[in-house]
Amino acid sequence: MHRHAKMVGVMPTTALPVVPAEAVTSPDAVTSPQAPARPGRPAMPPQHLADLDLAGRRAWLTELGHKAYRADQISRHYFGRLVRDPAAMTDIPAADRDRLAAAVLPPLLTQVRERTCDGGATRKSLWRLHDGSLIESVLMGYPDRVTVCVSSQAGCGMGCPFCATGQGGLRRNLSTAEIVDQVVRSAEVAASGVLSSGSAGGPGGPRATVPSRLSHVVFMGMGEPLANYARVVAALRRLVAPPPEGLGLSARHLTVSTVGLVPAIRRLAEENLPVTLALSLHAPDDDLRDELVPVNERWKVAEVLQAAWDYAARSGRRVSIEYALIRGVNDQPWRADLLGRLLAGKLAHVNLIPLNPTPGSRWDASTKPVEREFVRRLRAAGVATTVRDTRGREIDGACGQLAASEPTLPSFPLTSEGTVRRGGPVIDTGASVAQTRSLVQDPVGIPGKLVQSGWADSRGLGGKAKR
Ligand code: SAH
Ligand code: SF4
Repeated sequence: MHRHAKMVGVMPTTALPVVPAEAVTSPDAVTSPQAPARPGRPAMPPQHLADLDLAGRRAWLTELGHKAYRADQISRHYFGRLVRDPAAMTDIPAADRDRLAAAVLPPLLTQVRERTCDGGATRKSLWRLHDGSLIESVLMGYPDRVTVCVSSQAGCGMGCPFCATGQGGLRRNLSTAEIVDQVVRSAEVAASGVLSSGSAGGPGGPRATVPSRLSHVVFMGMGEPLANYARVVAALRRLVAPPPEGLGLSARHLTVSTVGLVPAIRRLAEENLPVTLALSLHAPDDDLRDELVPVNERWKVAEVLQAAWDYAARSGRRVSIEYALIRGVNDQPWRADLLGRLLAGKLAHVNLIPLNPTPGSRWDASTKPVEREFVRRLRAAGVATTVRDTRGREIDGACGQLAASEPTLPSFPLTSEGTVRRGGPVIDTGASVAQTRSLVQDPVGIPGKLVQSGWADSRGLGGKAKR
């Protein structure tokens, strides 16, 4: 099995912002807190040190009346030593520690629940955010690596009908720090050694020692990462920057999975961040892809594949084509042949995902013989093909199963201000109309044609807006 196939085994969910605007001095200011909270509305969290690059943190702490080098010290604790408890920051004077940590390390993720399988080698966490939003991440230990699957949004607005996350719509984008903190918290768990207790080879597999250092991150949890572009890219920069600026992961070990927002793929190629791109294709023909991946009505198969090949050429990295095999829907031999013709000779490999049926869905996974025939035809066309393992399935932690429900909580309203919905899928919203407008202006945000095509209402859309 190809490394990637195992790596992405899963998948694949009020405090007011407290930072004065002038404190945001970094170019990453876009990742900072957004609109003020309103009762019942989802709101961005308080600013956290992981929202900013190191220069931004130094400027912020200076404004708060601290020495600039405290930014380096506290960053070294958070990113280098995975320490968040001020009492353990003994290089910072005792009188300053609590105030400093309270200012720049506000708690972002409260663990509501952890479910484990594979004897503890796979662990799904349900996190509550400061505004009550729920997200999930999944940590997977393997004999040769530790991977975390993170969420980039609370919910998702892309409306793919086979995906549990997509059924609830979008609540809000995550901040950069909310994304990064999922990785840091997971790295802490990996460092504790608990992943080694179980069958790291997967269900029923042998016990194996798992590395204690988290090494891989896949953006295959809840949300469409490229619909939260600026914050996701800032998070990627934090993940690759060496400590104290960031976690020091290899860009080659980061995978961003997208439904195929073409302008965003093109923009990502220019970021000089050679992360692996995974493209959720699911159908080789527009007729079917329009149905399975509604954003295909805006960017067709040929266009999205061209963007993927340009990304591969630019990054030097093979693109992973994700294809959830759905019984009787997209698993016909002719579709395998068509897919093979589209991909032959390209810098790509196919990751087939046995569909995880979502509750109430009329769809099911393909049968094993059909799956084998699909693989055979793709390979016969010269296309590297793997079937993804189903890590986390039994704890609803596998691809498309993340729904972040918590029975004791009231369900949240999905029509927050800025949410754009009518008839079709809910397209990226964020917290405010101003933000929504800016996304329309931004080629990476809401696809303009979707807005025109009636998926979005006209509330505030189309006007000029600043980011
Ligand atoms: N929004 C991004 C990343 C999150 S989804 C994307 O769509 O690419 C991660 C992967 O899980 C995607 O490839 C997605 O198509 C797939 N997926 C969603 N629902 C699924 C399901 N029910 N069964 C199998 N895979 C699913
Ligand atoms: Fe969103 Fe990805 Fe699910 Fe589609 S498959 S609804 S893009 S999370």
